[in-house]
Amino acid sequence: MNKIEHIGIAVGSLADAIPVYEALLNTTCYKTEEVASEKVATAFFQVGPNKIELLESTDPEGVIAKYIAKKGEGLHHIAFEVNDILAEMERLRAAGFVLLNEQPKQGADNKLVCFVHPKGTHGVLVELCQERP
Ligand code: ZN
Repeated sequence: MNKIEHIGIAVGSLADAIPVYEALLNTTCYKTEEVASEKVATAFFQVGPNKIELLESTDPEGVIAKYIAKKGEGLHHIAFEVNDILAEMERLRAAGFVLLNEQPKQGADNKLVCFVHPKGTHGVLVELCQERP
């Protein structure tokens, strides 16, 4: 894996959270994007070589809504940049990690993504992401 690409943070409202993170990071949100398939709206901030991704649920039954109902707002996942997501998925599968999607799926920010079950990573939801060619 190359680097931490971004850290995902679950928020109740992007409208509330964006100005807070703009003030915190002293930068402006450079992109908002809805990912209909994931039932989330996202907002991105660049911090040096890394990004912060805020996630708001667009559906009361969405994974982010359920996460916040259970655990509250806060850190949701860590995303690692990979060059070849299929190869990384195969490597992790062979090492015994449980992948939450069998094929890479379309994520926000022009990425192919795959999630690794937190049960196998001491409680951290891990995302692999590869820039879409
Ligand atoms: Zn993410």
